[in-house]
Amino acid sequence: MLTSIATVSLSGSLTEKLTAASRAGFDGVEIFENDLLASPLAPEEIRARCADLGLTIDLYQPMRDIEAVPEEEFGRNLRRARHKFELMRRLGTDTVLVCSSVSPLAVDDDDLAARQLSQLADLAQDFGIRVAYEALAWGRHVSTYDHAWRIVETADHPALGACLDSFHILSRGSDPKGIEDIPGEKIFYLQLADAPLLAMDVLQWSRHYRCFPGQGGFDIAGLVRHVLRTGYSGPLSLEVFNDVFRQAEAGPTAVDAHRSLLVLQEAVGLAELPAPVVPTGVAFAELVTPDAEPVSAVLAALGFARSARHRSKPVYLWQAGEARVLVNTGPAARRDGTGLAAIGLESPDPAGAARRAEALLAPVLPRRRASEDALLDAVAAPDGTELFFCATDRPQLANWRADFEDVPHAAPDTGVTRIDHLALVQPWHHFDEATLFHRSVLGLAAQESVDVADPYGLLRSRAVTDADGSVRIALSVGAAPADDTVHAQHIALAAGDVVAVARRFRAAGGLLLPMPANYYDDLAARFEFEEGELDMYRELGILYDRDAYGEFRHCYTRTVGRVFFELVQRDGGYRGYGAQNAPVRLAAQHAARRLTGG
Ligand code: MG
Ligand code: MG
Repeated sequence: MLTSIATVSLSGSLTEKLTAASRAGFDGVEIFENDLLASPLAPEEIRARCADLGLTIDLYQPMRDIEAVPEEEFGRNLRRARHKFELMRRLGTDTVLVCSSVSPLAVDDDDLAARQLSQLADLAQDFGIRVAYEALAWGRHVSTYDHAWRIVETADHPALGACLDSFHILSRGSDPKGIEDIPGEKIFYLQLADAPLLAMDVLQWSRHYRCFPGQGGFDIAGLVRHVLRTGYSGPLSLEVFNDVFRQAEAGPTAVDAHRSLLVLQEAVGLAELPAPVVPTGVAFAELVTPDAEPVSAVLAALGFARSARHRSKPVYLWQAGEARVLVNTGPAARRDGTGLAAIGLESPDPAGAARRAEALLAPVLPRRRASEDALLDAVAAPDGTELFFCATDRPQLANWRADFEDVPHAAPDTGVTRIDHLALVQPWHHFDEATLFHRSVLGLAAQESVDVADPYGLLRSRAVTDADGSVRIALSVGAAPADDTVHAQHIALAAGDVVAVARRFRAAGGLLLPMPANYYDDLAARFEFEEGELDMYRELGILYDRDAYGEFRHCYTRTVGRVFFELVQRDGGYRGYGAQNAPVRLAAQHAARRLTGG
């Protein structure tokens, strides 16, 4: 199906918006009136620009406060409409959105509304224009789609039809099944927006919190299925008002938007994409650093052994149990310190995983980093993290490990068993995009979003995981300006006995993040511990949590550059990430940073 996006959904000047929409692969746009008013381009020039970019102009919007008003007022509205129809003719677009009136002059009279909309449609018809009537969720007398449709049906005019907007329909709690009562040819336009489920004023909700399908809590696919059953054949168009998108760069937002429509079309059977290939484990985490010493010291103290070296590049493999960390001092290293640059995901079908990622608009990275290296399928996540798909279980396929040769090393300590999770801090405007990306591209499931208090802001966090927890990625975003030291990425390492690993780490000179005594007083009130257990946790800075499934003990190393390590012990199937403890951890990190000045 054709795809479209309202210019209001993207930031920038009108031409920036159009360029971004075209590059992301949209077929058309809705021109939002304010974007046109603010543009220095004449309507004919906008039309030409769209044609150059391969975009159709599918809709002009909005026309407000037209119907169910006293005759004199309606006369003025028709005069206003005539001006806009002339403009639309110059623009070369044939559908206008009329939203239900919010005017205090409007009366609650469906027959009058139908009569006046019919008159408007008469005038529109002279210009070859169709009027798509939409019920605003906060319309004065018409606020539901079925009510708007009754008025359109009563008017019975060939140039008058319905515009359906998923936000207006689902935010009112209307049953979308009734859409099937509308003949497809009378649905002139379909606008799609998702939104998080919030209890708030519906106008504010709409203006600030709309998001792309799959990023909120509405069943957009379910609604689209009802629309498709009517025989609707117009575009799927995104109309998203969102404070974040208004500020974020238009290019990535448009890609995110188009990806959401691809995923949606797959869900409703309109598009066939390469099937998701769910990763089965974490092959490695790769750190890039301008100086390998500090992070190598931390890894050694955690019980890792430096077991192999890359054949052609300054990259060492550190291993403990099934946890593998690559330390890369190559040219990719940023001068501002150590950071997590890449993740190797074990994949049963690396090429298939890359094909799906590419179909969902993920930038594909060069398959080989050096001529002698194994071919590796890799894509970039929205935050720039490189994701490598590794066929670790099938030696006949390209294997990243073959690029490494063993070096003499002492046996690693047996405390750390694997990578439990990777925590990736997202740029503030990429959070919803990141969640949708990891869900749709990697086939991971998203858990609930949680808000975590930080002493200097608020952190939103959401984990994406596979079914058995072999791959867990915790995505987070800070509302406050990013503080690289505190809002750093982290690698969480699983241990069977976190106390033993923490003790070993400290004995080897490692620095654990100390936690305040008040935290342990509170733990003592909330849970019962064995004699001496709490003292041990206090001494090592170990945090404790419990959910319906089991227990969680975890502690943190000091930050190195832009990354730190967490040691975690999950018992009895604990599913979370210690979110309850995150505010204390964040405060402790801020405090540690103040002490060391960096
Ligand atoms: Mg709308
Ligand atoms: Mg964590």
